[in-house]
Amino acid sequence: MNTAAFAYGRNTANPDAAGASHRGPDLSAIAAGLPAAVPFVGPETLERARGAPFRARLGANESAFGPSPKALAAMAEAARGLWQYGDPTSFDLKAALSRATGAPAASIVVGEGIDGLLGNLVRLLADPGAPVVTSAGAYPTFGYHVRGFGARLEEVPYREDREDLPALIARAAATGARLVYVANPDNPMGSHWSGADIEAALETLPAGTLLCLDEAYAEFAPDDALPQIGPDDPRVIRMRTFSKAHGLAGARIAYAIAAPSLAAAFDRVRNHFGVNRMAQAAALAALHDGEHLATVKAATERAKARIASIARNAGLVPLPSATNFVTIDLGADGKLARALVAALAEHGVFVRMPFLAPQDRAIRVTVGTDAALDVFEDVLPAALATARSAVDRA
Ligand SMILES: *Cc1c(COP(=O)(O)O)cnc(C)c1O
Repeated sequence: MNTAAFAYGRNTANPDAAGASHRGPDLSAIAAGLPAAVPFVGPETLERARGAPFRARLGANESAFGPSPKALAAMAEAARGLWQYGDPTSFDLKAALSRATGAPAASIVVGEGIDGLLGNLVRLLADPGAPVVTSAGAYPTFGYHVRGFGARLEEVPYREDREDLPALIARAAATGARLVYVANPDNPMGSHWSGADIEAALETLPAGTLLCLDEAYAEFAPDDALPQIGPDDPRVIRMRTFSKAHGLAGARIAYAIAAPSLAAAFDRVRNHFGVNRMAQAAALAALHDGEHLATVKAATERAKARIASIARNAGLVPLPSATNFVTIDLGADGKLARALVAALAEHGVFVRMPFLAPQDRAIRVTVGTDAALDVFEDVLPAALATARSAVDRA
């Protein structure tokens, strides 16, 4: 390719071709109606804004304990083959996932993270203007896709810091929604429903409605949080990711388990070459490294206990967590939490917080290495004092 042809501003060969009189295209009606804001401001953007890297990256629910050494080796090997497109069917990974989960390969969909799979799912089920049910303040990417396909978000409030499962299903029944989203365990509150509760809720799901069960934190959850659901059950799609416990957030790879007819429908809309070779190789290797996973789970439990005690020592209340983060109740409103997130960032600590009241009375701190938690412990009291005085002055 002659890249010089793309050197904008230096192509004098045909000065009249793109004159100022030519107006660019209008956006589609759906896109024109979308908010311009991005759903997540990445830590890299915040680091550029503050002019320095963070000292502790505790805001994105990544695994600071890193990927399995076997996954690292598999990626290095796969890097040599990157001149080839990845297998668009992720055949080997699906076969391994099938053995690991007991679901037939025909029930498994591999995609570019749960985020990518959620977009495909919404596109498959939601017509423009149609209702889709989620919780107000739940994991935002789901709602982002619903808006992006022009469907209508029906948002149900949390109840006692949990997604309100019965109310979500009642709203689906009342609106005739085809899709209802529940993250179990939940982000950003770290709360969960038991598997038995989910199984019971399924019995009340209206005919023609699908429950999307986002299990991004399944590996960290107590065993009783995971329902027993057949892979051919047409009422549910479950999503799992390699981003969290497996430490591969940057590789972008996750999978869903659904009835084979729904799983097959993803082929109509998905980005067939979206899951790259290194990600497939890494996921396959990670799946076979149970020892690393066990190490990460143990380190996560230790880090959660430490974050909770750091919070208590600062006079704050850590909420119970079935995930790899601890949500810390500040006992005030969103103003204090926003001020604390900003003050922590000034001290070089990246954390996030729930978007909506009353959950926005808290900050959310992801597990980290001992060194990162040392920094958090060190700066929390001063950052809290700064935040409190900023709120008092306002
Ligand atoms: C982190 C997170 C995801 C993102 O998963 P990816 O596989 O990295 O896209 C999805 N859902 C929830 C609830 C999460 O917290």
